[in-house]
Amino acid sequence: MNQINWLDEVINRKEQLIKDTQDFLKIKSVLDEENGTPNAPFGPGIDEALQYLLARGSEDGFTSKNVDGYAGHLEMGSGDELVGILCHIDVVPEGDGWSSDPFGAEIHDGKIVARGALDDKGPTMAAYYAMKIIKEIDLPLTKRVRMIIGTDEESDWRCVDHYFKQEEMPTMGFAPDADFPIIYAEKGIADFDLVQKTVLPSTGKLRLESFTSGLRYNMVPDFAEAKLEGEGELQEMVEEYQEFLQQNALVGRGICDENTVIFQLEGVSAHGMEPEHGKNAGLFLASFLERYTLDEQANHYINFINEYFIGDSRGTGLGVAYSDDITGDLTINVGKLSYTADRGGQLGLNLRYPVTNDMDSTKQKLEEISDKVGFKLENYSNSAPHHVDKNHPLIRTLQKVYEEQTGEEATLVSIGGGTYARSLEAGVAFGPLFPGRPDVAHQKDEYFYIDDLVKTTAIYAQAIYELAK
Ligand SMILES: [Zn+2]
Repeated sequence: MNQINWLDEVINRKEQLIKDTQDFLKIKSVLDEENGTPNAPFGPGIDEALQYLLARGSEDGFTSKNVDGYAGHLEMGSGDELVGILCHIDVVPEGDGWSSDPFGAEIHDGKIVARGALDDKGPTMAAYYAMKIIKEIDLPLTKRVRMIIGTDEESDWRCVDHYFKQEEMPTMGFAPDADFPIIYAEKGIADFDLVQKTVLPSTGKLRLESFTSGLRYNMVPDFAEAKLEGEGELQEMVEEYQEFLQQNALVGRGICDENTVIFQLEGVSAHGMEPEHGKNAGLFLASFLERYTLDEQANHYINFINEYFIGDSRGTGLGVAYSDDITGDLTINVGKLSYTADRGGQLGLNLRYPVTNDMDSTKQKLEEISDKVGFKLENYSNSAPHHVDKNHPLIRTLQKVYEEQTGEEATLVSIGGGTYARSLEAGVAFGPLFPGRPDVAHQKDEYFYIDDLVKTTAIYAQAIYELAK
């Protein structure tokens, strides 16, 4: 049994693998709740892709199950234990600017180009063929292997929520929905708002009417705008603003008339998992405004931002800084800032914390310090960290397989983001993006190299076999 050349097995089926991947990608499986039905809650496109894969699976001899149109699975093997491969067949909307039809799945320069090629229908087909190969060469398994097919990964994960309420949790598994080699640890992610507790009447020489920046907790805002009203010296402020922009190598503008002035600032967006990779437009603008005496409400808001968030993405000022060897530093992204004179101000924060961090006590600290300085914590949501011990048989097996198949070291990676693997109890993200390949998921002209599709299929086939044999 050790003589199987997995790559050869895939190459023998390469033409069919490519054709099936293309057919699968031609289905426009974008969320469309408006046209959803009780058995196809996410709309006809997603349902068609789910039905397609389940029908293929039945034809190829797998046990198949459609779980209320929310998810499905294909299973083979026998035994008490269950190995899971968690995939998803929904894709994000195609967006603009494509060089070819986003649902044409055309081949250009050795790449299949389509929305979902890399995320996650291409890798789903790789995992499907991996199972199919094991089945066709009739290898004995002592465990069951189940491909779990999610349909709402790109939105709210209602698929896995629904699925695992009624279906078995695999003993161990992987999600082909991120990077090779192996992502074994993911930080916890908490979103919440800090809101000014009291709103005072707006009086004073210089009043902040509004301040807005950012729309999403998990992104560094790339735009901010503040509107002020006051008497005199507004033109001077605009001049000082130009200097400030220059000193900080920023783009922006100040526009004033008799008694109002508007400041706009362009920053650099980045994912909230590493705020220092971007330039937070809202924080820069707040740091500019700090030099002025505004009305009391606005002063309180702007000073709070300056004291606790500017130049501090690690929660040091708030007293919640934490770091561990597995996942590194706790990080805080100020994703949303909004203020109006009549409602006061708030900050929308995205906090990512290491796997050994006790979030309950961190939350308590945040509540205490906010309370002390006139803010309250609201709209709290939390997704726990995810981590599989590096000596777990799952990790050991995947490392061995990856090294045999690629000749490269299978380093273990920890990230600040969340992958689909966190919906498995003992699951890791395993491929499909090889080190050095650009991540084109969610972008125009998304593609998957055919060579990578083939290699990935071979890796998955051996991995599934080794986990379930
Ligand atoms: Zn994905």
